[in-house]
Amino acid sequence: MQRTSTPHRILPTLLVSTIIVAQACAPAAWAKSPVATGFGGAVATISDPASQAALAILNQGGNAVDAAVAAAAALGVTDPFSCGIGGGGFMMIYLAKDKRVITIDHRETAPASFKPTEFQRDGKELPFDEVVESGMSVGVPGTVRGWHEALDRYGSMTMKRVLQPAIRIASEGFTVNGNFTRMIAENERKLSRFPASAKLYLKSGKPLPAGSTLRNPELAQAYRELAAGGVKVFYEGRIARAIVDTVNQPGGGARPGGMTMADLANYEARLRQPLRSTYRGYELYGMPLPSSGGVAVAEALNILEGYDLKSMPRDKVEHLYLEASRLAFADRNAYLADPEYVEAPVQGLTSKDYAARRRELIAPDRAAAGHAAAGDPYPFQQDQSVPLRPPASKLLAEGAHTTHLTVSDKDGNIVAYTFTIESWGGSGITVPGYGFLLNNEMTDFDFSGPHPNVPEAGKRPRSSMSPTLAFKNGKPAFSIGSPGGATIITTVLQTIVNHVDLGMSMDQAVDAPRLSERNGAATSVEPGYTGTAAAQALAKYGQRWSAGQEEIGAANALVFNADGTVTAVSEGKRHGVGSALVQKKAH
Ligand code: GLU
Repeated sequence: MQRTSTPHRILPTLLVSTIIVAQACAPAAWAKSPVATGFGGAVATISDPASQAALAILNQGGNAVDAAVAAAAALGVTDPFSCGIGGGGFMMIYLAKDKRVITIDHRETAPASFKPTEFQRDGKELPFDEVVESGMSVGVPGTVRGWHEALDRYGSMTMKRVLQPAIRIASEGFTVNGNFTRMIAENERKLSRFPASAKLYLKSGKPLPAGSTLRNPELAQAYRELAAGGVKVFYEGRIARAIVDTVNQPGGGARPGGMTMADLANYEARLRQPLRSTYRGYELYGMPLPSSGGVAVAEALNILEGYDLKSMPRDKVEHLYLEASRLAFADRNAYLADPEYVEAPVQGLTSKDYAARRRELIAPDRAAAGHAAAGDPYPFQQDQSVPLRPPASKLLAEGAHTTHLTVSDKDGNIVAYTFTIESWGGSGITVPGYGFLLNNEMTDFDFSGPHPNVPEAGKRPRSSMSPTLAFKNGKPAFSIGSPGGATIITTVLQTIVNHVDLGMSMDQAVDAPRLSERNGAATSVEPGYTGTAAAQALAKYGQRWSAGQEEIGAANALVFNADGTVTAVSEGKRHGVGSALVQKKAH
């Protein structure tokens, strides 16, 4: 899909809104649409069957957590190259009654056999793709444990009940769209190496064509076993055995991993304190380490807070946003990693005073030449005992995948949930008999050090996932999150700036062309952007665009309006159009 410049972009958004208004009073089963406003619960995901699964659970009286797990399980069927029970993620939950934000880190962990030189041979890094497509890249999956913790602690329904919509979709099948076919085509070589993957996604050696019905009875079976036996089946029972056997003997000439039954049995999700920050009167809750998302978004916003962005033209705002992002990424790349292994200077990095120092490095009219250096946040730590001052790191090759969903319920509980199997199609290895792809999350580690993010036994690789909740005057204002590897951070950051500073409605903010500056040689932009007037205006500041261009991050959001309605916002174009639903449409 060609990206358009701002004036042209607003038009489709308005048309979309018009169509929705026309449908506003239609009875149930609304057409798939990327924006919906109404009362009661709301959901936005990138897949209509997944949004429908969440809505069904809300309509049965389930809460936002129940509905989020139902949507996630459905996404594991309909968007299997982005997410699923073979991976991990980060779920953020707002409990309205307690006015409390909780995060559940169910990031994949390194097996106990891992060591810092895991991805090296004879002192040299193994080729990245060779590691991706191997048992070595597979971390102990955390998704099922995450769902279990979420439901057990904060849900109102059983795992058995919330898995029912996904079991039905997997058994009865769903219609493959063009985006799905494209993803198979782009990963055909990887998927064809592993017979269980080829059997599912290729037909006579070719990608399943758009319009065909895909059934995944083996995934339905995995979900049924989870429904019957709960979390133990996955971590200690038959599914655990199947995972270990597959990781250690992946076939297809791929390198084996070294995962054990004990690695699965020992897997724990972590309940972590969210990272709290403020921005122009909003209270923001972000994902803490091992995701770098919360810290990087907070640091960049703290830098931007020092400017009166509202009084500036859009090109200047975007220039400052790119520069702030560049500096935040320099720090993120240098310092952040699993907090159980590394003392990262989070307080310093997220302090307003540190941001003021970083801001001094930004030229108001000129892009920084070359890479920004990491700053020194240690003097800004309240805890001066943090000893480690790691060197700045090189940029990691990071993918651009994953999925984000968001749900709220009639009682005001909210879930913002990002989960993944890392690359499109993860390692490419499907677990035979169970129909799900295994992650390649271990390639989110740095392959060589010294660096805080090198592989270690039981460690969680640094993530960029950034489910975010914003509050104003103590009340929910919006939720936002995105897929897209390290571009997740910039998508969340840019959408907040678009919405809060540039005054865009959330659907405009999500729809706007993405600019992702991650302290690389150039800023990533989407196809069609570089020729626009907006791009030319930014080029005058010396901003540079990367040569290869692809779609960046299909985001999903909720906005809690002053009149008591909620607006669910998904993508109008990216990743094949998302689906936003509300329990009761506003008239
Ligand atoms: N592995 C990535 C992360 O944790 C997510 C996968 C992706 O979006 O590429 O940040």
